[in-house]
Formats: sequence, structure tokens, C-alpha cells
Amino acid sequence: MGVELGIMERKIGIYYAYWADSWDEDFFPYISKVKMLGFDQLEIQAASVLNLPADKRRELKAEADANGITLSFGIGLTKDYDVSSLDESVRLRGVSFVHELIKAVSSIDGRMISGTVHSYWPAVPPPGLTDKRPVREQSIKSMNELVKAAEDNDVVLNVEVINRFEQFLLNTSEEAVSYVEEVDSPNCRILLDTFHMNIEEDSFADAIKTAAPYLSALHIGETNRKPPGCGRMPWAEIRKALDDINFTGPLVMEPFIKPGGQVGRDISVWRDLMPGADLDAEAAKAVDFVRRELC
Ligand code: MN
Repeated sequence: MGVELGIMERKIGIYYAYWADSWDEDFFPYISKVKMLGFDQLEIQAASVLNLPADKRRELKAEADANGITLSFGIGLTKDYDVSSLDESVRLRGVSFVHELIKAVSSIDGRMISGTVHSYWPAVPPPGLTDKRPVREQSIKSMNELVKAAEDNDVVLNVEVINRFEQFLLNTSEEAVSYVEEVDSPNCRILLDTFHMNIEEDSFADAIKTAAPYLSALHIGETNRKPPGCGRMPWAEIRKALDDINFTGPLVMEPFIKPGGQVGRDISVWRDLMPGADLDAEAAKAVDFVRRELC
């Protein structure tokens, strides 16, 4: 397989929140910005898209098309919409909220919603809970309902495997595989994230290979969430595993380096990780690195 084909097959994206300190942003200006910096894809926040009036949503999609940028959608459901809640009224509220997200994303031809679509975030288990199986059952029950809407709207829900300090349901690739096999729908897939894998997995390569049949997208970042290329993540091992499984999904970087606002708080950024850095220049450097080392 030639280099050209590789470039065409693995899109490189970035999550808008690298530049933001609030989750709810006007995404429009980010589209031409990320295009100029060399990206193929922009990941935005699904709940904010749901809140946009239909004409604003269409403008966003038109701007993405004009720039040749693919939009993907992230979500960390809040506790009020926890689809894994043991409280049935909360769970049902969560399911109808995600149903609305699916329709909103599909209305602008969005094909992927990734993140904590299976529970909530940032999360701690219910007080006193020491065995997560009842929560997992609630989550599967919700997902069985949601995949029907996802199938009808041609949207894939990617469950993100997240480290133990932020979530508790799916901490490893293996747990995610067991989950999606139980849901058993082509519209429920897995997103792995190198930042979380670094904490939980024995091996990057084995985790990627374990998830291979269901791996739909990858979040990439260094161990401290700096942009790819400025840390000690074993990129060569990760690249080889992606090549070995013929991974063709998007590589979406998710750097967080600035403290402040709700984003800094939720991500636990308590210091400036790159003092004096020009964020745009660092993003452009990272996209060059990823195109060279991971595509
Ligand atoms: Mn992530």
C-alpha cells in the first residue's frame, strides 16, 4: 500500500476544545482555521449542535463542505442524562436526549458520535457501589434502544474507552469489545484514546488488535495531553498496530494544554502545559507529525 493511499485513508482531525475554555462554542470559525492548519476533520460537541437552530446547523455543514472538512461529534453525557443510571427516570431522559443528538447530527450528514455515549462524564460510581455490573446492564439496555435510532439515521455511536479516574464502565479495550458484542449492532463501535490507554492497557498494540473488528476511530495525544509529537507516547508501536489491522478510521487529536474555564476544570488542566505556546503553530506542527508518523 503506497504512501498516497495511506494519506487518503486516514483522516487527521482535532477536537475544537483545544482552543476553548467553554464546551458550548460557536464552531463556525474553527472550520476554516483547521483547514488552514492542515486538518481533514473537525470534532465538535454534539450537544451544542443539537441546540443550534436548523438554519445555523445547515450553515455549519455548508462551511465544512466548502472547506472540505469532515465533521465528527463528541459527547460526554452529563449526569442528568446518564444512560447507565440506576434511576430509571434519569436513564430514560438520557436515552431520549441521545436520540435527539442522533437526529441532529444526522440532519447535517454527521456519521459519528463518540465519547461517553454509554454512561456519563466525568463520573464516579453511585455511592456504595462496588460492583459495576448493574450499571453496565442499564447501559446495555439503553444502547439496545439507541442503536435502533442510530441505524435508522445512519449514525455510528462510538463508545470511548476512558481511564478509571474519569469513568468506570469501560476502562479497557477488552471491556469495550465485550460491551459492543453484547449490543451486537454495526452502529455501536469503539473509540480508543492513547491518553487513556497509557493509563489502563498492558500494551498499546494488543489493545488496538483486541478492538480491531470494532475500532472505528482513535483519539491521539501524549501522556499529559500535549499534541502528538511532543511527548513520549510510543507512536511507532501504535502506527505498526494500526497498519497491521488495516485501520482506516480517523485519527483525531485531542490536546488540552491551557488551564481555565469549564474545559480546564473537567479535563483537570491545572497548569499551563506549554507556556507561551502559539496554539495554531503547535497544531500545525502536530498535524505534520501525525501525517508523517501515523498515516
Ligand atoms: Mn478522547
